[in-house]
Amino acid sequence: VPELPEVETTRRGLAPLLTGKRVGKVEVLDPRLRWPVPTNLGSLLRGRSLRAIDRRAKYLLFRFSNGTLIAHLGMSGSMRVCAPTTALRKHDHVRIGFGRELEFRYHDPRRFGFLLWTEQPAELHPRLVKLGPEPLGQEFDGSHLARTAAGRKIAVKPFLMDNQVVVGVGNIYANEALFRAGIRPSRAAGKIASTRWDRLAIEVKNVLAEAIQDGGTTLRDFLNSDGEPGYFVQKLQVYNREGQPCNECGGPIQRSVLGQRASYFCPRCQC
Ligand SMILES: [Zn+2]
Repeated sequence: VPELPEVETTRRGLAPLLTGKRVGKVEVLDPRLRWPVPTNLGSLLRGRSLRAIDRRAKYLLFRFSNGTLIAHLGMSGSMRVCAPTTALRKHDHVRIGFGRELEFRYHDPRRFGFLLWTEQPAELHPRLVKLGPEPLGQEFDGSHLARTAAGRKIAVKPFLMDNQVVVGVGNIYANEALFRAGIRPSRAAGKIASTRWDRLAIEVKNVLAEAIQDGGTTLRDFLNSDGEPGYFVQKLQVYNREGQPCNECGGPIQRSVLGQRASYFCPRCQC
């Protein structure tokens, strides 16, 4: 599943190539995605210049003067820019020409991704309006976490993965950030001291920023045994390491299931 770092890496790859370019030919090869691709995409986009590609949570926002194309990669979506003459691949759903030399392609074998069109401010779209703050933004810090967690019995790990608390902290990154912050994944969110929330917010930012940095050079199709992206695998301290020695204390990493997701932690280093 493409996680926030992969989506941000995609944005950084596309933006310099496509921003400011005018849309030419548009072809919807197969509209069947999680929601159907608008059949009038061509008439909406043709002749328009792309103003910017922004990201909100795991959504990419392709901004045009007349509206925004909201894109999500779902489970297996990917985007690329190639020459218009490049052979199509199976599961290429949409091709959008930019200028004379480039073509954007949306590819999605499992079809859980989508491309939606909105003429409203994209941030007010029903899928975006209730989202919590961006983890790498200034709004997200220890006091935001402490305020949001006050009085709540939910375990800290599913709390951290809740999009209304903060967006884009997937399973791998929640496990790793909690290890770095020394907080056990099962600890009740409402019982964590404010200094520990400060530390956790910093570690969430660090772990995501490092993954984005790595993603720039090693983005590929490799998936690990849980079907999650493997590009960050070299640096993982607890994720997928059950029974292996903790890098801090040497004791065995444990695995448990919280909110139906695998949790990995060191019982000595995390409390
Ligand atoms: Zn340890």
